[in-house]
Amino acid sequence: MNRVRLLVLNAALGSLDYSVPAGMDVEAGSIVIAPLGPRKVTGIVWDEGRLPGADFDLSKLRPILEVVDVPPLSEPLRRLIEWTADYYCAALASVARMVLSSGGALGGPTTTTEYRLSGGTPERMTPQRAAAIDALEGEQGIIRELASIAGVSEGVLRGLVNQGVIEPVTVAIDRPYPPADPDFHQPALSDDQLDVAKRMVKAVEAKAYAPILLDGVTGSGKTETYFEPVAEAIRLGRQVLVLLPEIALTENFLVRFEQRFGSAPVLWHSSLKSTERRRAWRAISQGTAQVIVGARSALFLPYANLGLIVVDEAHEVSFKQDDGVRYNARDVSVMRARFESIPVILASATPALESLHMASTGTYELMELPSRFGGARLPDIKLVNLTEEKPANGRWLSVPIINALEDRLTKGEQSLLFLNRRGYAPLTLCRNCGHRFQCPNCSAWLVEHRLSARLACHHCALETKVPDECPDCGESDCLVACGPGVERIADEVGELFPEARVAVATSDTLGNPERAAEFIAQAEAKAIDVIVGTQLVTKGFHFPELTLVGVVDADLGLEGGDLRAAERTYQQVAQVAGRAGRGAKPGEVLIQTRHPDAPVIVALANGDRDAFYAAETESRRDASAPPFGRWAAIILSSEDEKEARAASISLGDTRPNRDDLYILGPAPAPLALLRGRYRYRFLVNARRSANLQQTLREWLDAHHFPPGVRVGVDIDPYSFV
Ligand code: ADP
Ligand code: ZN
Repeated sequence: MNRVRLLVLNAALGSLDYSVPAGMDVEAGSIVIAPLGPRKVTGIVWDEGRLPGADFDLSKLRPILEVVDVPPLSEPLRRLIEWTADYYCAALASVARMVLSSGGALGGPTTTTEYRLSGGTPERMTPQRAAAIDALEGEQGIIRELASIAGVSEGVLRGLVNQGVIEPVTVAIDRPYPPADPDFHQPALSDDQLDVAKRMVKAVEAKAYAPILLDGVTGSGKTETYFEPVAEAIRLGRQVLVLLPEIALTENFLVRFEQRFGSAPVLWHSSLKSTERRRAWRAISQGTAQVIVGARSALFLPYANLGLIVVDEAHEVSFKQDDGVRYNARDVSVMRARFESIPVILASATPALESLHMASTGTYELMELPSRFGGARLPDIKLVNLTEEKPANGRWLSVPIINALEDRLTKGEQSLLFLNRRGYAPLTLCRNCGHRFQCPNCSAWLVEHRLSARLACHHCALETKVPDECPDCGESDCLVACGPGVERIADEVGELFPEARVAVATSDTLGNPERAAEFIAQAEAKAIDVIVGTQLVTKGFHFPELTLVGVVDADLGLEGGDLRAAERTYQQVAQVAGRAGRGAKPGEVLIQTRHPDAPVIVALANGDRDAFYAAETESRRDASAPPFGRWAAIILSSEDEKEARAASISLGDTRPNRDDLYILGPAPAPLALLRGRYRYRFLVNARRSANLQQTLREWLDAHHFPPGVRVGVDIDPYSFV
């Protein structure tokens, strides 16, 4: 190759042609540095450059400067990047950027300094120093990590470094990970588990595209079962990617992984330190990282030798990315498996309707685990009709839930109360003048968080102190909290049962892996009696002593009015119900609702999943919603309301006129103001046969937008705000 086309990592530039200096070794997929004006840019060699015409002059092209010393991106990965950009109407460069997401991996230092005890003693021993030295026995890491392990300030440790008690050591960033042993501890599988595991192992051995829906009730041991094909891939020297929806879940998973494989997997998520990212990225691209466990962004890493993808809790909404490239990691992982010619396992107790549909048409292979492992029974589910069982004024728990809580507390068993609302109260108002606290940047109320004494917007970063007086009328002591959040429910439990040890479990309290690990350890040690949590606690957790689940407001999710509201409510409640009675003791679930006759609620009460999915399928068919038709959303936004409105009206005027696609809008988006930008929305509903993306691209490309207007396209949207 003496000329190449580079995909430059800048969405506005796209691809550019360069020449290759003599003696430089590049191939398709090579990552290179090239000049651009006075700057240098990173690019990926996409293919050979434009075929030269008669007047083609190679000397007009600027030469590539250097090839980065990492393996070239593989053909399947490049095809995946193209497919993703095409399908989600995103720029190639934006997708490619997700692949190279670890800037440091491409250059930067190869060693880092860590610290450990030297064995010496300080001149002056203080209780703090003694405790720190005690805690750091056998530990090594950067000062910040050691400080958190020892529970002292970084200053204390720096003092010990100055005295030579803690010494620096130089470590290679790219040192290898400990190997996973596929035969470290082989659990005895049940007959059902064994049958499914064998089929999955076969799929791994076949090394061919095979989408599998692992549909197993909560507590059936899906993890233990899919660990078998993971082990097989390791034996065959291939890499495995396990996608998990939530970082808070990884801790639980890691413990089980280590028990099975004798070492920790390689982690990939947004809170990795840059040196860890570099180490992981490099090991993944060289094939030395065997099992990678990560959030959705791990899907775009440059695996050298991928043999299997597992998407755990595959129905989870958090696999959908709603900013930047708006993709759904569940769907893209199926495409990646296809390009890589490998199996992909979507595991869930409450699969997405789309996935079940694929299984029913035979596109996905269905593998089922119909019963709980070890003879544990699925919990009994009862409805509490809130129109009859009214909670006391200013309270949210009905008598049946209170009695059930009391019963568990007496028996020393655990309870879980679920309410999908962070904070103390979703709305605060002034009793005197009626002033409501609203976010100035978003069409949303500020949510009171008592634990942090703040009013916070859940859509932007805005946070303020709870004021002493009303900003409108100046009256003091006049603010009232309206409605419940988890913190308020926790208070209510505390007032009812002052002895109870209550823990609030939300992204505010379990936001990082350490805190999540601490929470799990406490729950397992029975140091918590009642957990009050949001959707974060609906999945993954396995607490054998937990025998009661109370759903505080099952109707909450149904009020959103979005397409998947019923499905999401069903999934959330079924998942949280699945946390009860996973050990030897049977579980009970109480669901508070004002609509005991709503089809979702009836299906939940009867444990009749099939009836729910059948009804939901029919209503989707009527609405020509997925999987029968398709949706896309287009959002135009601007800091200037008039500009956003004018741009969307003018875009509406040029809408394509086609039989196979309806365009609704423009209308102000439900979140009409978000992070200071005014938003207008089009919703597009298309037949399956329509070429949705191409139509949208042609429509949008032909239109000129003022510079202040941002255009976002969301294919298969989840959030309709
Ligand atoms: P699911 O993900 O299907 O809800 P889990 O994988 O969490 O279920 O399994 C439920 C519990 O049963 C876990 O504690 C798991 O370790 C245990 N378990 C499942 N299968 C086995 C097995 N074959 N041997 C031992 N323990 C098992
Ligand atoms: Zn806001």
